Formats: sequence, structure tokens, C-alpha cells
Amino acid sequence: MNVADSELVSAMLLDAGYAETKNINNADAIFVNTCAIREHAEDKVHSRLGYYHKIKNEKPSTIIGVLGCMAQNLKENILESKPYVDIVLGPDSYRKLPEMLYHRSNKNNNHIVDTKLSRYEVYDNLFPSRNEGVNAWVSIMRGCDKFCTFCIVPFTRGRERSRSIQGIIEEVMLAVNNGFSEITLLGQNVNSYNFEGQKFHKLLESVASLDGVKRIRYTSPHPKDMTVNVLDVMKNYDNICNYVHLPLQAGNNNVLKRMNRTYTKEEFLNLSELIRNKLPKVGISTDIIVGFPGENQPEFEETLKVMNEVKFDSAFTFKYSSRPGTKAAEFKDHITEDEKQSRLEKVINLQREHTVIRNKKYIGNTEKVLIEKESKRSSKQWAGRTDSNKWVIFDKKSERIGDIVPVKIKSAFGITLQGEIKKIQEMETVI
Ligand code: SAH
Ligand code: SF4
Repeated sequence: MNVADSELVSAMLLDAGYAETKNINNADAIFVNTCAIREHAEDKVHSRLGYYHKIKNEKPSTIIGVLGCMAQNLKENILESKPYVDIVLGPDSYRKLPEMLYHRSNKNNNHIVDTKLSRYEVYDNLFPSRNEGVNAWVSIMRGCDKFCTFCIVPFTRGRERSRSIQGIIEEVMLAVNNGFSEITLLGQNVNSYNFEGQKFHKLLESVASLDGVKRIRYTSPHPKDMTVNVLDVMKNYDNICNYVHLPLQAGNNNVLKRMNRTYTKEEFLNLSELIRNKLPKVGISTDIIVGFPGENQPEFEETLKVMNEVKFDSAFTFKYSSRPGTKAAEFKDHITEDEKQSRLEKVINLQREHTVIRNKKYIGNTEKVLIEKESKRSSKQWAGRTDSNKWVIFDKKSERIGDIVPVKIKSAFGITLQGEIKKIQEMETVI
């Protein structure tokens, strides 16, 4: 989401006549787009700002701006410890940026803070300035109304609101015409999309039916909003990736309740079974938080049990990070850092086993792989992803980045697959 927002900001600044520099020491203005989801993310921004401060000491006219969720979260407090910051803008205030820069460069040295959240801002008529690559992020909704007790997002990003289907389609068509092979529909709660009664499955179908859209992904869905209609559309359209991100967070019902996740362990298990039945060969990934306040050992072990039942293809795993202002930050019985670390390691190790089990099942298959970049290990190899979201490494022949090619999977080491490119005709017999 931050990459997508940065592309929006870039577009606005280019429109206002600014140009991008690759050399930070030459910059007249430096913006950092921030995340507040965990303390670690905020720490990184603090240290980054220290670096910008040094640049400003060398060149005092440099304007420094903090944008996004951390700006929204800390507001004027950022200026107390960092008076060298000139501009603080929350995620709904980006449109004000060119005007603020103009004021600031006209020797008006007041700090500028704007963190007003909006019920309507979806940046519908703004086309992001995208970097080269194969994937175009297309934001379809903003904000979140779920209020999970651990999460800062509803406070930093405000209420849910959706963009018009028409606006989204126009942006997708532009991205396709600009050569992007993959479209990822984005939202904090992507499947609670609702524009004048048109729900997420309708939007997904409209985008999948457009000419030239080779691949579609979406993130991040909430299990509660996952419907049979969405799964049916995924099944019916070959260009929608066979991949679902289904954040579990915790496997114990008491913890889920205290997190306000609005589903039970049983509902989650049924849903993942339904997904695997409807979409054979689907890749399922998840998010897991360990050490939520009050989570005892047996409760934690239920997370491992659910993992063992679902055998996710991959997982993003986090130690609970207390976010001031959220409900859970007020809960008693916070878990020690050591205990969180030890639980995290258990979850990571178990997931590694499951990823290997899932990946080994691909050996012998021929998969459609979208070539995304050169492999880090060798300039003679490509790295690309299957539609179930697994990385595959294979020798280059005469393909280009952005092509979708048939690759026969030969082996599965670690978290990646290794394969060999096949001729297109051989792919047709496989499909
Ligand atoms: N809307 C998505 C998640 C967006 S945030 C959903 O509900 O699934 C991405 C992930 O960050 C969450 O799924 C959660 O696992 C993690 N996360 C959010 N707040 C956190 C916190 N306070 N501590 C640790 N992890 C957190
Ligand atoms: Fe945060 Fe996701 Fe819960 Fe919204 S649904 S509060 S973004 S974890």
C-alpha cells in the first residue's frame, strides 16, 4: 500500500513540475512514506530521518516531509523530537503536497501538519506514476472498519471507502497499455469493497474480463469477507491467480475473540477447506501474530495445530507489537519479549516444513510462470512466480521480463522451486 501511495505522490509532484533525482544529496525536498503497523517499522523511519537530518545540516534549504501512517499517528509529536521536519501529512492529505511545497519554498518557514482523515478521499482521478516492472498496484478501497484490537490501521487510515468500478477499470487499462503484465488490486480490507452496492466479486469479474489483463492478484482480504461468489469468479477466470492470502492471526478462539477477528478457529478451518475444494492447486498464505496479550502456552499451541491442519504454502509471521491507542495496548498480561521470540521461532520452523511439503508436490508439474526479474544468484537465470505465488528459478532462453512461460518443475529446495522452460506447444497439452 505504501508503494502504491508513493506512486500517487510521485504523480502529483511530477504534475506540479517537480522532477525526481536519484541522488538524495541533490534533492530540494525529501519525503519518507511511513508505516505504523509495528514498532519496528516506526524505528526504521526514526533512523532514516536521522540520516535526512545530516543531509539537511549540509544543505539547510532541503525540505523534509513525513507522509503516511506514522505521520497520521504521531502528528505534531514528530516535530517535538525532530524540529528539522518541515511537513507532516497523513494518508488522506497527499493532494495538499504541491501547495505546501510551494508555501515552504517561498521562505515561509512554518511547519505544516495536515492529518485530517477523510470519509471520501480515494484519489480516484489520479493516475500513479509507476516504476518499471511487471506488477501494477491498483488501489480499490482505502481505510478499515474492522478494528482488530491489536491494529493501528483503522486509526491511521480512517473509515472504509471504495473507488468507482469505472475509475478502477480506467486505471487498469492504462496499466495494461503501459505494458504491465500483472495487476494487484489493493486495499486494507480488499474484499469488503463495496461501491454503491457493487461488491468485490463483481469488481474482480469486471477486471478479469478486460482485454489484455494477463494476471490479477488481490491483497489483503479478510476471512470474514471471503465469499463463495469470490471463489467462483476466481475459478471461472484463468487470469485471476490461483492464490488466496488468508490471515489467521491466532488459532485459539479466546485469543481470536480478544483480537476482535470476528471468526472462530472452526470457521477459519472450514473456509480454508472450502477454498482448497473449490480451487484445486490453490496457494494459501497467512499472517500469524504470536504473543498477543494474555496468550498462554496451550492457546499458542492451538495456532500450531491450525497450521498443521491447513498446511499453509507460506506465512508472514510477527511478534505482537503494542500500538499505543489500540485496545490491546491496554490489555493486561503482556508477554515477555523472550517468550514472543521463542514462539515466533516455533512458528517459523513449522511453516518452513509446511512450505517444503507443499512445494515438493509441484515437482513434475508444468506451471505458467510470469518472469519478474533476473535471478539474484545468476545472470543466466530468471526468477518468476507461478500463479499460486511460488518463486521459480530457471535458465534463460530467449524470453523477456513480463512474459508468461511454461516451466517444468524439477526440484524444490528451501522456499523456491527450480525448473526448466518448456516449449509453448508442450504447455498447451498440459492445460
Ligand atoms: N487487513 C489485513 C491485515 C493488514 S496488516 C487483515 O486483516 O488480515 C498486516 C498484518 O500485520 C496483519 O495481518 C497482522 O498479522 C500484522 N499486524 C498488524 N498489527 C500488528 C501488531 N500490532 N503487532 C504485530 N503484528 C501486527
Ligand atoms: Fe488491521 Fe486488517 Fe484488522 Fe483492519 S482487518 S483492523 S487492517 S488487521
